[in-house]
Amino acid sequence: MGAGHNGLVAACYLARAGVQVTVLERDTVVGGAVSTVERWPGYRVDRGSSAHVMIRHTGIVEDLALDLTYQDLDPWGWTPYGDITFHVDLDRTCTSIESACGTRDADAYRVFALDWGQRNSKVFDAFQGAPTPGRLGKAIWGAGRGTGLPGIELARQFLTSADSLLDSLFDDERLKTALAWMGSQSGPPTHEPATADLVGWNTVMHRLAPGHPVGGSGALSEALRQRLESYGGRVLLGHGATRIERTGVRTAEEFHPADVVVGACHVLTILELAGDPRLERARRTVRVGNGIGIVVRLATRALPAYPRPETYRSLQLLAHSREQLRLAFGQYGAGLVPEDPPALAMTFSAFDDTLAPPGRHNVTVWGQWHPYALKHERWEDIREREGEKLVAAVDRVAPGFAGSVEHMHVQTPVDLERELGLLNGQVMHLEMGLDQMFAWRPLPELAGHRISDGLYLCGASTHPGGGVFGASGRTVAQLVLKDRRRRRG
Ligand SMILES: Cc1cc2nc3c(=O)[nH]c(=O)nc-3n(C[C@H](O)[C@H](O)[C@H](O)COP(=O)(O)OP(=O)(O)OC[C@H]3O[C@@H](n4cnc5c(N)ncnc54)[C@H](O)[C@@H]3O)c2cc1C
Repeated sequence: MGAGHNGLVAACYLARAGVQVTVLERDTVVGGAVSTVERWPGYRVDRGSSAHVMIRHTGIVEDLALDLTYQDLDPWGWTPYGDITFHVDLDRTCTSIESACGTRDADAYRVFALDWGQRNSKVFDAFQGAPTPGRLGKAIWGAGRGTGLPGIELARQFLTSADSLLDSLFDDERLKTALAWMGSQSGPPTHEPATADLVGWNTVMHRLAPGHPVGGSGALSEALRQRLESYGGRVLLGHGATRIERTGVRTAEEFHPADVVVGACHVLTILELAGDPRLERARRTVRVGNGIGIVVRLATRALPAYPRPETYRSLQLLAHSREQLRLAFGQYGAGLVPEDPPALAMTFSAFDDTLAPPGRHNVTVWGQWHPYALKHERWEDIREREGEKLVAAVDRVAPGFAGSVEHMHVQTPVDLERELGLLNGQVMHLEMGLDQMFAWRPLPELAGHRISDGLYLCGASTHPGGGVFGASGRTVAQLVLKDRRRRRG
């Protein structure tokens, strides 16, 4: 159930093993939050995600031999505030930091990138399978051992806030802001405890660049669908599940008998459709959160006038200070939209001419933090005004950009829920705090991907969480196949 990328990955692995698979999808577009549509004639616009980071580290694209071409996003990050550029190449990154912030911060960054890169290669091992105590213990135990630090200090560093980590390492506020904003992309603010690794994690991009598929983010989902069909499986669009039963899934039109059901959408959706008695506790306990942000999709006559063309490949980190991040999060906490939202801009049409008509561009700007439930206003009244704030954030660093915008499509948290089925507009399904990761995601009794006899769960609601990843889809397929073998044996 659910043709998001995780559901499609699960379907591919099952079908490749000879299982007969049907994917039921309520939407008329494949891919969920990894999909691309023609928003205006000639413009291929992503509906959700754009930057593929984690899936590139899983080997899934290669293992399934997907018909997909990635454009590397290298440099992967750039901030106009200080003109700091993060390349895959660590030396080039350190040179950029040195000229902006001085030798001390450049040296400190090198140590940080090597150290946290090594720690996260271990954490990543934990992400590649079910969150069993053995797997987690082995991976986490190994993380950071190369530093020579005692375990108790490593644990402290893992549990501290990203801001404390940044303060302990660097001097220059602009460098700290860029890293903090990058680390905020999963939702939790960097002053919260146990967010250090949300910043540390980004160092994996010194191993492998993030990518944007040629043709848009949805090219990944299209390639997965194609691979599934080549294995004999099928996707039925416009077939939303209305009930999960012991012997199959009911849609408005018909009943689809099945030995096994894999729920690849939100955990609360699955529990509700299955009539699971744990729904009430899950509703009260699981933190879906009050949205994260909004996104504007722009059709423009020109790219933002940045100082160097290489920056068009990067995630453009348009946050000017950590005070801006804290203020935006504080306002969000009070049910208010941020007065001055931090923005992250992306300009893929600069190097992919399938995304916009000749002489035109397709620019995405993501902003945080915006509540789904507003205290005083209604999204339908303020959508355009809030979208304009993100355009202004780009215009501030690239004067004249706002005047080049021909069309603007704003996706508020309410739109994300309506269009993509993301409850409360939460792009990660559930908040990504430490208490909802690993064997706690979505809840201890529902972690491990096995929900009940014959019903499994994968996707962003499960370990290892949201983002373009695919790992939970592959893991759930492995568990289904293992259980089938055991039953047959
Ligand atoms: C605006 C935005 C920007 C983002 N940017 C990035 C980014 O740049 N990089 C990144 O890594 N991540 C990003 N993300 C997050 C990432 O896209 C998601 O966390 C991830 O794609 C979730 O994938 P999934 O397969 O687990 O679930 P989903 O994509 O949520 O798929 C679930 C599917 O289930 C379907 N469904 C729901 N109910 C039913 C039903 N009753 N019957 C049948 N089908 C049903 C839905 O329609 C959907 O297709 C972004 C998300 C959004 C929305």
